[in-house]
Amino acid sequence: MNNREIVRRARDAGVQLVSFFYCDNGGTIRGKATHVSGLEGRLNSGIGLTLAMQAYTSMDDLQVIQGMGPVGEVRLIPDPDTFTILPYAPKRAMMLADLVTTSRRPWEACPRDFLKRALARAESLGLTIQAAMEPEWYLATKEEDGFVPLDESLDNASIGYTFAQDVIDDVIEALETQGLRVQQYYAELGHGQQELSIEHTDALRAADNHIIYRETVRNVAYQHGLFASFAPKPFPDQAGSGCHIHLSAWDGDGANNLFYDSTDYQNISALAYQFIAGVMEHLPGLIALTCPSMNSYRRISPGSWAPAFTCWGPDNREAALRIPSLFWDAEMASTNLEYRTVDSSSNPYIALGSVIAAGLDGIERGLRPSEGQRLDVDPTSLTTEELERRGIRRLPSSLKEAISELEADTTLTDAMGEQLANSYLTVRRAEWDMFSQRDAEFEIRHHFYKY
Ligand code: GLU
Ligand code: MG
Repeated sequence: MNNREIVRRARDAGVQLVSFFYCDNGGTIRGKATHVSGLEGRLNSGIGLTLAMQAYTSMDDLQVIQGMGPVGEVRLIPDPDTFTILPYAPKRAMMLADLVTTSRRPWEACPRDFLKRALARAESLGLTIQAAMEPEWYLATKEEDGFVPLDESLDNASIGYTFAQDVIDDVIEALETQGLRVQQYYAELGHGQQELSIEHTDALRAADNHIIYRETVRNVAYQHGLFASFAPKPFPDQAGSGCHIHLSAWDGDGANNLFYDSTDYQNISALAYQFIAGVMEHLPGLIALTCPSMNSYRRISPGSWAPAFTCWGPDNREAALRIPSLFWDAEMASTNLEYRTVDSSSNPYIALGSVIAAGLDGIERGLRPSEGQRLDVDPTSLTTEELERRGIRRLPSSLKEAISELEADTTLTDAMGEQLANSYLTVRRAEWDMFSQRDAEFEIRHHFYKY
C-alpha cells in the first residue's frame, strides 16, 4: 500500500490516531501516535524518539548506556505494509515501525532491523525463511487479592471452550480482519489457558503478527472485562505459557521447502540438520534472547514440556527443538522445526532474528547435530550419567546464568551488533538485579500483563 492510499483509508474509516509501534529490549511494545491530519507527513519523516528508549527495563528504570542518554533522537518510521485499522478500536490504526537514525540509516539498536539483517543473510544463502509464533496465554479476572484464572477447565476439555467462547470468537474475528489467518484453537492445560495458532508467513511478517496478536488479545479481553496474560508463568501452580517458533526455509520463489527430504529417515534435509546443529550449539546463550525475563525461568523446568535440556528429537515436547511429524498429503508443506525454548516475554524480532542467526551459523559452517543429543524419550527419564554421556546439558536455570552464556557467545552478539547487544545485556542484567531482590509475588505481578 502506498502512503496516499494509507491516508485515504484512514480518513475514509474515520481513524483519528495512528500509532507507530515498536518492541524494545525489555519486550515491551511501545510507540507514539500521530493524528490523522499529520499522517501523510509522518509516513515520510516519522516521529521522533529519544535514543534512551532502548535503555529502559520493563520497569521503566533507565539504564546508563553509552549513546543512549538524554541527547539524541531516532525516528519511528512505519512500514507501509503493516497498516491496520484496529477492529477493537475502529477510530485507531496501527503500524509497526523501524528505528531509523536522523541520517536515514537503520539504527543498530533497532530490533526489527536485526531480524531484517538475519533474513538478508539467509537470502544471501538462497533461503527465504517462513515462520509462525505459537502463543499460549491466560484469561483471568482481577479480584481484590490479585488475578484469578477465568475457569478451572482441563486440557483440551470442552468446558474450557464454553467459558472462553465469547472472547475467543471476538479475538478470532479481530485477528482475521487484520490479515492473520487463524489455524487452530484449544483450551490449554492450565486453568483459563488458551492456545490459538496462526498460519506461518515470511519471518518479518510473523514477528509483526505477534505484536498485532498481543495487542489484539489484550484489548479484546479487556473489552470483555478480562485480563489476558502472555507472561511465561503467570500462575506458579499452573502450566507455563510458551510461544514456540516454527521455522522452515524455502527457495527463492517459494516453490520448495528446503528443510524437506523424503529420502531421510526423519524426512528432513541436510540443510535442516545443519540448522538444528547451529541452534543446538548456541542454545545456552540463545535462551537469554528467547526466554529473556525473570519470569521465563519459572516456566523452563524439567517435566513441564517447557524444555530444560540441550536436546532435539522427533515429536519430542521435552526437547528444545522438536521435529514435528508430517501431515498426510501435505508432507513438504508441513515440514518445519519447532523451537520450544521461547516465550512471549521475548521481543519477537530479537527472538526470531537470533534463532535464525544461530541456525544460519550451523548452515554456514556445515555443522552436523550431535546424535547423542537426539532423543526420542523424555530427558527427565534418563539418569545424570546417561545425560552426560550423550552430551546433554541442563539449560541455564536463571536469567543471570543465561545472560552470562549470551555474553560468552560472540556469534550471537556479533550478529546483533554492538549497540543492540550491549544495550540488551545491560537492560537484562538490570532486570535480574532488581527482580532477584524481590519475591515471587512481586515478579509475577510485574510480568502479568505487560506482554
Ligand atoms: N505450555 C508448554 C510450554 O510452556 C507447552 C505445551 C505444549 O506442548 O503445547 O511451552
Ligand atoms: Mg500448547
